[in-house]
Amino acid sequence: MNREKFMQEAVNAALKGMQNNEGGPFGCVIVKDGKIVGKGNNKVTSTNDPTAHAEVTAIRDACKNLNSFQLEGCEIYTSCEPCPMCLGAIYWARPDKVYYGSSQTDAANIGFDDAFIYKEIPLPYAQRSIPFEQLLTEIALKPFQEWIKKVDKTTY
Ligand SMILES: [Zn+2]
Repeated sequence: MNREKFMQEAVNAALKGMQNNEGGPFGCVIVKDGKIVGKGNNKVTSTNDPTAHAEVTAIRDACKNLNSFQLEGCEIYTSCEPCPMCLGAIYWARPDKVYYGSSQTDAANIGFDDAFIYKEIPLPYAQRSIPFEQLLTEIALKPFQEWIKKVDKTTY
């Protein structure tokens, strides 16, 4: 068991998913204690799910298999550097480390350009290509007020 073998598994997942017309050429495996505990490949076009990126599907699989909403002690091997959505998902899942194969630039070169999302993040909301506008804040704060008071909550 070594890092190269796990990255090869992530690449194999990318190739298999792509060849089966499940989605784009991206794969991911999640490893804990030297064993693969979760696996995923891009399934955006076959499931009509824009969030079905390899990393997200692998995180869902690993969390289900581990019966946990955190990936402590896990390492993520992804065939390509994560997009901003997957980066966020990875931070929420809290694995120990991420290994990536190809880069954001390599992905952009074949038409998967995530760089524009990174450029949108620091923009004022009204200047984003998808405008964001705040609405009904006081009403929307109610769940937060209830959360603070909730005694049987599971924090994360
Ligand atoms: Zn992604």
